[in-house]
Amino acid sequence: MRCPLCHADDTRVIETRTNDDQGTIRRRRECQECRRRFTTYERCEEPQLFVIKKDGRRELFDREKLLLGITRACEKRPVSRDAIEGVVYDIERALRDSLRDEVPSTQIGDLVMRRIRDLDEVAYVRFASVYKEFQDLISFLHEIERLLERARRERLAEEQQTLFDPQESDTAKIPIR
Ligand SMILES: [Zn+2]
Repeated sequence: MRCPLCHADDTRVIETRTNDDQGTIRRRRECQECRRRFTTYERCEEPQLFVIKKDGRRELFDREKLLLGITRACEKRPVSRDAIEGVVYDIERALRDSLRDEVPSTQIGDLVMRRIRDLDEVAYVRFASVYKEFQDLISFLHEIERLLERARRERLAEEQQTLFDPQESDTAKIPIR
């Protein structure tokens, strides 16, 4: 493995860890030339998965590209790197488990939208604005309205649950004189 920092060929593995969840092996390496350390990941090569773009072009599925898109949407938002990696991992898994060799890009976009909505609303709107390529401000606002409406319904449902929870209502009971 060549050192990514000084490009020397003489590097050494100093630590190896397997991540069984994601089927990857992580290796910590040290360059014998500049002594700096770096990390490499190994994963098994999976069968090719193609993405069919809106204009009909076929492109090899690229998890890095997906990761980058979601990371951009989550910039400066309270979403951890792990959470983003988790979304990408789940989506790739779902696509590969479906055992198809090609999948429309719109389907991937929908999967991301669904997951990202639960992570962060701002990130969701950002992603939606890029992915849905809103042609005008009106359609963009409609999407935000839909999002707010959904949040409102969820809050209502939560409140009602609390209201009908017998334990909760017992403690909230006002004494009658
Ligand atoms: Zn080096």
